Amino acid sequence: MLHLVSVKRKSFLDYVDLMSPDLAEEVHALALRLRGARLLHLNSTWYGGGVAELLLSLVALEKDLGLDVEWRNIGGDEGFFTITKGLHNGLQGKPYDLTADAQAIYLAANRSAAAQIGDGYDAVLVHDPQPAAVAHFARSGATRWIWRCHIDTSVPDPGVWGFLKLYIDEYDAAVFTMPQFVPPGLSVRRVVFIPPAIDPLAAKNRPLPDDLVAETVSEFGVDGGRPLLLQVSRFDPWKDLNGTIGAYHLVKQTIPGLQLALVGSMAGDDPEAWEIYRRIVEDDHADDDLFVFTNLVGVGSLEVNCFQRAADVVIQKSIREGFGLAVTEALWKQTPVVAGATGGIPLQMHDRVGGFLVTTTEQCADRILYLLQHPAEAATIAAAGMEHVRAQFLMPRLLRDELRLLADVLERAPAPPGERGKDTA
Ligand code: UDP
Repeated sequence: MLHLVSVKRKSFLDYVDLMSPDLAEEVHALALRLRGARLLHLNSTWYGGGVAELLLSLVALEKDLGLDVEWRNIGGDEGFFTITKGLHNGLQGKPYDLTADAQAIYLAANRSAAAQIGDGYDAVLVHDPQPAAVAHFARSGATRWIWRCHIDTSVPDPGVWGFLKLYIDEYDAAVFTMPQFVPPGLSVRRVVFIPPAIDPLAAKNRPLPDDLVAETVSEFGVDGGRPLLLQVSRFDPWKDLNGTIGAYHLVKQTIPGLQLALVGSMAGDDPEAWEIYRRIVEDDHADDDLFVFTNLVGVGSLEVNCFQRAADVVIQKSIREGFGLAVTEALWKQTPVVAGATGGIPLQMHDRVGGFLVTTTEQCADRILYLLQHPAEAATIAAAGMEHVRAQFLMPRLLRDELRLLADVLERAPAPPGERGKDTA
């Protein structure tokens, strides 16, 4: 049931040009401190969505640095993942009626995962709410537990948070992308802030020849001679795909040749996605300039890379967003972005650095039109966005931050089970 995920090999040495010598040296020193420690990343899916994207690179680099690290997925059926999506949505503020039955199903899956983990690890990084209660059931005196939260938990549904808080408070540390995300009343032993990052050498982000980019998007039916808007995101209510489509329709009134591609992966832990996907495809089937692609029709990392490079403007019209790796990826490719001013997105870009932040569909349309009509300025704005990502949101920095935390947590005494949640140092 605890599926072991294998990752491609990566070499940390390949990244030297993307970091300062100090950062490289610190990563090597931290890796030495962590040698011999048994580490586990535990999450709920190996594909689709930002967490899987991050772990594919992080785990590979940690292995290359000589760490004894594994990545495993908590298994579950559709019933379990429907509940965990409810918890996910609840943590992001959507009311969710967490029934006693749902609690029991969630806890049973977590208890069963905990039994399989045993006490063989020195530190376990648990990602997001799906496996959050595993630490409670697996509790052994020696293992250190870190909860890595990737979503915006600033205003959670009180019922959902009241339930999960009991389990989160028991951890040795909790990691959030930014201070605003700390949920009310959290009393975990230690709180740390680490924003995510992208891997510039992954197939998703590496440089590509222009002709490959042009050929690839044209194979999917996109006309390279006409402007293209793009949103890359899961089919999720927080990604406001309706807002994106609405903005496209508004801009199309002025630029009739405009095209929109929606590229959305079906994540293994996201049963809600199919319904949203079906609705979009049914509503918009008459528009030949609106494309909807998924990982199930061959849009993998390389194709996403091509689309992000081919697009004139990338949209990320989210209304809640943990970080938004799809924004970082577009910025890194010097494609201007119009994005919702929410969650982690303003960490990555602000007006005229990378693109524009918006709240309404009308604003979104207005800023897209501006960028399309001022291509020289759009290029300058996009170049500034890329530099911002280079300075703050590349994988070596994230690796350093995580290794620092792990080394530190491992060198402290673990929170004793009965006392967890009481030491707020
Ligand atoms: N993604 C992808 N294919 C798709 C849709 C999304 O590869 O069809 C990737 C996207 O490139 C990004 C991640 O999934 O790396 C989404 O991460 P983000 O932080 O933007 O959102 P999340 O899904 O974690 O809410």
